[in-house]
Amino acid sequence: MSENELLQLLQGNTFHFSCHKSIECFTKCCAALQLVLTPYDIMRMKTRLGIASDLFLETYTVTRIDRHPRFPMVLLKMTDDAAQTCPFVTSAGCALYEDRPGACRIYPLARAAQRKSMGDETKETYFLVRENHCRGFEEDHLWTVQSWMSDQGLTPYNTMNDQWLEITCSPRSLGPVREIPSKLQMFFMVSYNLDKFRRFLFGSRFFQRFYAPDDLQAQIEKDDVALMGFGFEWLKFSLFGLPTIKIK
Ligand code: SF4
Ligand code: SF4
Repeated sequence: MSENELLQLLQGNTFHFSCHKSIECFTKCCAALQLVLTPYDIMRMKTRLGIASDLFLETYTVTRIDRHPRFPMVLLKMTDDAAQTCPFVTSAGCALYEDRPGACRIYPLARAAQRKSMGDETKETYFLVRENHCRGFEEDHLWTVQSWMSDQGLTPYNTMNDQWLEITCSPRSLGPVREIPSKLQMFFMVSYNLDKFRRFLFGSRFFQRFYAPDDLQAQIEKDDVALMGFGFEWLKFSLFGLPTIKIK
C-alpha cells in the first residue's frame, strides 16, 4: 500500500495482529497511499456518502492510465496536506468504516487471486504486508486467514472483485486498434461510473437490441450489485466478443 512496506508470503495459515483505537500508531496507515479502488469499493463508498458515482470520481479519485495493466485504474486521491492523509480519516478512525475499501479491510494481508480461465475456480495466495510504522503485529490476537476475512467483512468484496479481475486480467485481445479507445471508455463507465451506466442502459435502445429477462431488468434498475454483475457480463461481450449477452 505505501512505500515503506515489506511483503512476505504468509507461512501457514495464521498471524498475530490487532488494530484498535488505543494503539500508538492508530490511523498512521491512512496516509500517502497508492490505493487502487475496485468497482465494488466505489459502489460502497458513493452509496455511503449518498452521492452519484460521477461526483465521487470527480471529488475523491485520480485515474491512472498505464500500459500495464492495459485498463484505466482509479486511485483514491489523498489530501494535499504535508502527510497526504486520506480524505476519510478522522481522529476517531475511518469515517466510512463499514464501507471502507477492500484494501483497507484486508490489511495486514494481501491476497493474490488467479483463475486459469473465465469461470474456473479462484486460486488464492496470501501475503503479510509489514509496514514499518504498524504496531499491530506486536499484539497477541491470533487469526487464521478465514477468521480475518470473516471479521473484516471481505466476502462480498472478494466475490465482486474476482468477477472484475476476470476482465482486467484477461489475455484476450481487445480487437482492432481503432476500436480500443471506445472500448476503454466503456470499461471505465461500467467499472467505475455505475450511475452513468444505468442511464446508458435505460436511456437508450439497449434492451431493444440486447436480450435481458424482465425480472433482471427490474433488478438492475434499482440494485447496484445486480447492475454491476450485468455490467461485467456486458464487458465480456463488448470488449472480447464473448457470448455472455444475447442479441435480439
Ligand atoms: S498502522 Fe497498523 S495497527 Fe496502526 S492503525 Fe494502522 S493497521 Fe492499525
Ligand atoms: S478509507 Fe478509511 S481505512 Fe482506508 S485509508 Fe482512508 S481512512 Fe483509512
